[in-house]
Amino acid sequence: MKCPFCKADNDKVIETRTSDDGFVIRRRRACQMCGRRFTTYERIEAVSVRVIKRDGSRVPFDRNKIRQGVERACWKRPIRESQISELVAALETSLEGEMEISTEKIGEMTMNLLRALDEVAYVRFASVYYRFETVKDFGSAITTILAANPEQHNASHR
Ligand SMILES: [Zn+2]
Repeated sequence: MKCPFCKADNDKVIETRTSDDGFVIRRRRACQMCGRRFTTYERIEAVSVRVIKRDGSRVPFDRNKIRQGVERACWKRPIRESQISELVAALETSLEGEMEISTEKIGEMTMNLLRALDEVAYVRFASVYYRFETVKDFGSAITTILAANPEQHNASHR
């Protein structure tokens, strides 16, 4: 890393720290030429994919929007902040290299990740996403979950 003061490319990392959720790494560096210190931050590159909305318009991918939707679905569920951060990071990783993606596809990908984390959160997210209108809609979503994970549920249903 070039020194911002003397522009020499000769520094030494003197301290490395990770942020609370583990997605940002802060490095304190010392320039070996002028002796001054500076800090760098390392984080996952923001995804530059464009999202195609239902009406056909395109908007930049917004990780906060995804996060808010996931947080709402996880409300009062035994899910840690860090697990939500990991889910959003996993989603972003799978979007790397994509130019455009539909809202539907992002919704599906988020749902699949959420399903592995917590089934109640998954059904909640699906209800918003698919705009469930009746109790019957919830019923069929739950039937689908039970059918997809027979080994987890057989014990309690026999
Ligand atoms: Zn320097």
